[in-house]
Amino acid sequence: MNGMPAGEKLDYRLLLDAAAAAARATGDQGHVADYIPALATVDPDAFGMAVATVDGELYGIGDWEQPFSVQSVSKLFTLALALAHGGDTVWRGVGREPSGNPFNSLVQLESEHGIPRNPFINAGALVVTDRLQTMTGDAAGAVREFLRRESGNPLLDTDPVVAASEAEHGHRNAALAHFIASHGNLENPVETVLDHYYAHCAVSASCRDLVLAGSFLARYGVRTDGTRLMSRSEAKRVNAVLLTCGTYDAAGEFAFRVGLPGKSGVGGGVLAILPGRAAVCAWGPRLDQAGNSVAAVTALDALTTLSGCSIF
Ligand code: GLU
Repeated sequence: MNGMPAGEKLDYRLLLDAAAAAARATGDQGHVADYIPALATVDPDAFGMAVATVDGELYGIGDWEQPFSVQSVSKLFTLALALAHGGDTVWRGVGREPSGNPFNSLVQLESEHGIPRNPFINAGALVVTDRLQTMTGDAAGAVREFLRRESGNPLLDTDPVVAASEAEHGHRNAALAHFIASHGNLENPVETVLDHYYAHCAVSASCRDLVLAGSFLARYGVRTDGTRLMSRSEAKRVNAVLLTCGTYDAAGEFAFRVGLPGKSGVGGGVLAILPGRAAVCAWGPRLDQAGNSVAAVTALDALTTLSGCSIF
């Protein structure tokens, strides 16, 4: 299958089988996130993967229908919705360069005067959540509604136990939010922004739900019902920021291995986009040192390597 020409149909069943086998071969490498205690209760050996094509086909393997904590994967949707509502105004309060620092670092924010480097580190996601709150009056609700509608899953929701656990152990996020506010870069009260941030990070969704919800990026901005969420060039920009900043401080390594725009979360999910073809999501709770799922990155690496299909 190597060297697959663009436009040729891929055999996703075969690819998912091979990707799952590669993921399972990673065994017990990596560690489940436990800095949010409620996340540590997950089965470390779970693995699922799904593909939703732009033509409406859906494929899955393993635990692809089992909900998990989406965590930072939600940041892709907060950014997309903020851009859909507010356009370029969003970029006044947040940059779009890789940070080169851990996702929850305070250091850079101080030297850069409260303007976070990009929308996918925690500081940047807090700013985007704040703007979405101003635009919609209910940032977490807007994300939840979007995910429900695109996935067709009305049961998709925030896990209140995870949200409470995040809040209880959220000193670093609270520090980031207060620091941003001290620079005048929050429009809403810190407590409101943190509540909505925890609520969208603590959404439980499956690989199935996430590929359907993310497939607008594979369709260059067009939603599952055929309406447009954002312009083609905005979709290009979101994909570009995903590629350069979507996988913590290992976006270079992810581009090297997988070659797709993608967003990871500490719940072990990674949602990646094959523009013009499909959205792909893989999930395995054990994380590498950068915070990316060992099994999910391995599975995505296998899928693009075997198919010869990436953005490069
Ligand atoms: N809610 C998590 C936090 O703020 C998100 C972490 C992640 O998935 O990157 O730490």
